[in-house]
Amino acid sequence: MSNDSSFSIPAAPSSANAEKRILNSTSTDPNKILPMKYKWAREHYKKGVANNWIPEEVNMQKDVETWKNPKGLSDDERRLILWNMGFFSTAESLTANNLVLIVYRHITNPECRQYLLRQAYEEAIHTDTFIYSCDTLGLNPDEVYNMYASIPSIKEKDEFVVAMTKSIMDPNFTTQGTANIQRFVHDLVGFYVIMEGIFFYAGFVMMLSFLRQNRMAGVGEQFQFILRDESVHLAFGSDLINTIVQENPAIWTSEFKATLTENIKKAVELEYAYAKDCLPRGIMGLNAEAINDYIKYIADRRLERIGLAKVYNTANPFPWMSEIMDLRKEKNFFETRVTEYKSGMLKWGEEPKKETPKQ
Ligand code: MN
Ligand code: FE
Repeated sequence: MSNDSSFSIPAAPSSANAEKRILNSTSTDPNKILPMKYKWAREHYKKGVANNWIPEEVNMQKDVETWKNPKGLSDDERRLILWNMGFFSTAESLTANNLVLIVYRHITNPECRQYLLRQAYEEAIHTDTFIYSCDTLGLNPDEVYNMYASIPSIKEKDEFVVAMTKSIMDPNFTTQGTANIQRFVHDLVGFYVIMEGIFFYAGFVMMLSFLRQNRMAGVGEQFQFILRDESVHLAFGSDLINTIVQENPAIWTSEFKATLTENIKKAVELEYAYAKDCLPRGIMGLNAEAINDYIKYIADRRLERIGLAKVYNTANPFPWMSEIMDLRKEKNFFETRVTEYKSGMLKWGEEPKKETPKQ
């Protein structure tokens, strides 16, 4: 090792590393993390660490005043916030449980497991965020935590993910053989691409629209932090899926690809139905149709990320979403906007000129 103070991952010298595979590997020791084979897993881990945050860092005082003032928000605005609280409060736990109980069991590679542990911690932080928001805003927990059962558009999303990922819940499931590897990848697409990559995004657009107007900015900032974590979860999941496909090319049949694409198309429909339910009338320059275009736009990005052909070819109606994702943790969105406003470069609410095509 050199004297360089920056940590470097030892290259993969041994033939054991060359034989390592994500699934069904006979040369993987889950307790032996060095030398690493899958450097992307390490990179995503470090990105997660760089985003570290906890919900208590965000001041909710102004949100509490706005929420408790009968004239602070319109009925439609309250509905939008409540519906998103209802979906996210239980979806975060569902994600954490899937990760720990299913994905972790079958992914034995130690650098991938190290990332899964980090992700599980982040899901705990997200679950905690909704406990914190319910507490500070004084929401009725029985109402919020029952919305996944009582609100059809939320229930349908959750049921879709649960049904799609049922097969590998079976304790006797193994990843041996092409059909089982397909089932496993099918379910990974359900967890990572659909749940974390599509079903969270209508909510992100809605809640970050509040943040852009500096209203309910505490809750908005919590969603901004969650969005940044989720974009890394999605990137890890996509790399995991792509590596499994690369190592098991026999699974990647045109029939299997068509099934995955159909699942993603169905998810887009469910997310649009959810957006319409959250937002029955347009508010804050937002309406369900624009959100539908956004969902289609990101669905195309998700499809391409895992090597599938895009379907929709819609333009991104919210280029500011990519800007929010790129901001570093210390610079929250509102502070950045104020500085830009003061310097006269950008008026409040104006779209930035440069757009980074990033998801
Ligand atoms: Mn999460
Ligand atoms: Fe996540």
